[in-house]
Amino acid sequence: MTELFITGGIVYTPEGPRDVDIHITDGMITGVGAGRSIPAGAEVVDATGMYVLPGAVDVHVHGRDPGFPDKEDFGTLTDAAAAGGVTTVLDMPNTVPAVDSAGVLEAKAALAHSKARVDFGLWGLIRSSSTPDQLEAMAAAGAVGFKAYLGYAFNLSQKRVQYSPDLDDPDLEAPPDYGTLARLAPEVARLGVPLAIHAEDPTVLAAFRRPLLTYSDLLAARPPEAEAVAISAAAAIAKESGVRLHVAHLSSALGLSAAEDAIRNGAPLNLETCPQYLLLTDADFERAGNAMKMLPPVRYASDRAALVEGLARGVIKVVATDHAPHTDNEKSNTFEDALPGSPGVQTLYLSCLDLAKKLGDVWLAPRWVSEGPADAAGLQESKGTIAPGFDADLVIVDPNRKTQARSDHMRSRQRHAALEGMEFGFGIEDVYLRGESVLSNGRVRGRMVRPALVAR
Ligand SMILES: [Zn+2]
Repeated sequence: MTELFITGGIVYTPEGPRDVDIHITDGMITGVGAGRSIPAGAEVVDATGMYVLPGAVDVHVHGRDPGFPDKEDFGTLTDAAAAGGVTTVLDMPNTVPAVDSAGVLEAKAALAHSKARVDFGLWGLIRSSSTPDQLEAMAAAGAVGFKAYLGYAFNLSQKRVQYSPDLDDPDLEAPPDYGTLARLAPEVARLGVPLAIHAEDPTVLAAFRRPLLTYSDLLAARPPEAEAVAISAAAAIAKESGVRLHVAHLSSALGLSAAEDAIRNGAPLNLETCPQYLLLTDADFERAGNAMKMLPPVRYASDRAALVEGLARGVIKVVATDHAPHTDNEKSNTFEDALPGSPGVQTLYLSCLDLAKKLGDVWLAPRWVSEGPADAAGLQESKGTIAPGFDADLVIVDPNRKTQARSDHMRSRQRHAALEGMEFGFGIEDVYLRGESVLSNGRVRGRMVRPALVAR
């Protein structure tokens, strides 16, 4: 039996921040309280002056493994996650081969398990051709939920999801449409896992297609109407089927407004946004360059303000990263050719702590990156909370040390991120995965998380 005792810190508990000690036995939290006596033989961690927070659950990462290990793999992904206080990552299914069956999911899980340094979960993919039986088999194999890329086509020759809605190319399979969602949503609801959408309506995208020579072209080609229309349509399907609809990377004021209308109307939506949409505007492109090319795009100051306000009001409950690295070559092309996406998992916690502090309540940050995401992903019984019975996934944060996002500190393969150069008023001192320090112990191995399924 290994015992760990963390004392002296300000601990974020379900009741709020408290001066309490944490007792950990064999990787699980067994006691939280003030004035507890140190168990015999326990390793004692003095966290005086520090915050002790639940490890983050990043529900939206692209680990690129298998398929594109030159962009990232489960080792580099989870190394970056661990360094940033993210102790669980949920990996998206657009790897190669695409995760559209239980067999592919199981093979990916084995690969991830051989490299992961933090816990991980896997999303399954919804294609136009997906069947309820395939979804049920993936859920039984441990899928945390299913993702439908509404604005994206599948390249069958490379078995990858790509952002062009250009269906003149015979190698492209059309993105799943609302009919596919309506057909499969009842099964996803029955399985008890979330249905996540990349919310961009393909017909709106098709109407605004143009060469992407400049950042303004990108904004014009991916208008907020595409996001809002997709959210409204999918919300109707969610309301009718009862499926928990997870709206990925909300990026616009119009999209937020469509989502809020749907929620008021009784649709079970869960909203996610990302640090880049909360911290950046189109004006940052001059500084960040191609690292800021992503989909949906970072928009205007009015969009950022609406999203920050939605988060502060608690309408948006999840901040995830859409961590999506590419090789330096793929990002240093011309703007037109640069692939969309930026790494972000390593700065998730620090950027959210900084934003929460600016909003006047630093303790909002663990709600956005730990509690909210654990709930959204069905992991609320083991992750995201510091309380007895939960995994001892903990982050020790120094509230008086600054950290700058710097490419030479990044552990992802793509080092230059959209947030490059930003300074956050916190420092990550140590990170524990199930009671073991992942910063000082390279031998800690991540495990696959499985949601608590409600079906049958
Ligand atoms: Zn994504």
